[in-house]
Amino acid sequence: MTSSPLRLILISTPIGFIGSGKGGGVELTLVAIIKGLLEMGHHIVLVAPYGSFLPSGCEGAEIITVKGIDQSSWQHQVPDAPITIPFNGMLPKLVEVALKVSKNSDAILNLCYDWLPLWLTPFVEPKIFHLISMAGVSKLMEATVRDLSKTHHSRLAFHTFSQASDYELIDQPIVLGNGFDLKNYHFQLKGQGPLGWAGRVAPEKGLEDAAKVAADLGDKLFVWGLIEDKAYASKIESLVPEGTIEWKGFLNTQEFQSQLGSCRALINTPKWNEAYGNVVAEAMACGVPVVAYRRGGPGELVQSGVTGWLVPSDDIEGLKKGVLNIDKIKRQNCRDWANESASYQMFAKRINSWIQSGLGIR
Ligand code: UDP
Repeated sequence: MTSSPLRLILISTPIGFIGSGKGGGVELTLVAIIKGLLEMGHHIVLVAPYGSFLPSGCEGAEIITVKGIDQSSWQHQVPDAPITIPFNGMLPKLVEVALKVSKNSDAILNLCYDWLPLWLTPFVEPKIFHLISMAGVSKLMEATVRDLSKTHHSRLAFHTFSQASDYELIDQPIVLGNGFDLKNYHFQLKGQGPLGWAGRVAPEKGLEDAAKVAADLGDKLFVWGLIEDKAYASKIESLVPEGTIEWKGFLNTQEFQSQLGSCRALINTPKWNEAYGNVVAEAMACGVPVVAYRRGGPGELVQSGVTGWLVPSDDIEGLKKGVLNIDKIKRQNCRDWANESASYQMFAKRINSWIQSGLGIR
């Protein structure tokens, strides 16, 4: 129990129900926050799309689900796209319900990366905090975050410094990392298995580069994750010899980590400024070294030469060299990093301190 338990309303992503995989890393982040804050004695109400469910360890949270049409994701729009909200849109419904139930609560913690909750923050009585889950992909979103930073900087937090650097902020960014229930990830000391790649299968994730590495090395690439863009997935498959890619599907964490843990290395190839890169942390939690571009969150999470290899962005030859040198990395280093930097307990403590200090409690 903390000295001052809070009543917090959490807003989930307006893109897919929790468990669908459509919300990407936000789904797991939300679960980590809920579990950690509950253990600290806080009272949590989650407002989430209809169909959402919370895994074990989160039973103490109340969940309110709402029906509506998914918001489209910013990363799949042109940089100067306007905000569009469909009729019966999920975004305003989540916000409306969160505001309604926020009477007698201390704060709202918003995890949906969208304009509406950011924009209305200065105009409503409930204190809304925003954990920003993406780097800058939209001019409108960048301007909205910038404007909120001018008046309510302490209400904004980010996963990594690289992500935060896309935003023009009035002060140093509040950077909180991310967290995972590490007991769900089993350390596998021996990893002689295939190369792995994980994430939403969508152009910003750069699967084609990892496929090329595997093809050039005559290796197999296991791919886990939701296929968001089928045409893109088929195109990548056609670019490499048949059988190079083995599609493993979108698995639950238990199965995902058990398969991922047998990999020799995870190749991480973001084409955008990845905000954090959950799959990078999850691979390391299983003892899998990561070969990644020095771009975005993964460039901050991986220590080159210790937990994997970082290479210049888009340097496929560099990735190959990293894979060929993977035996030089001790798998135990990877798990040690996860224990020290990516537990949900520590992440929740950082979230707690951020909100408490933003509320002027400490
Ligand atoms: N994931 C999963 N099952 C799979 C593959 C991926 O649950 O088979 C999850 C993974 O645990 C991670 C998320 O998909 O939390 C991808 O998040 P990440 O931060 O890597 O990228 P994002 O999709 O948010 O851009």
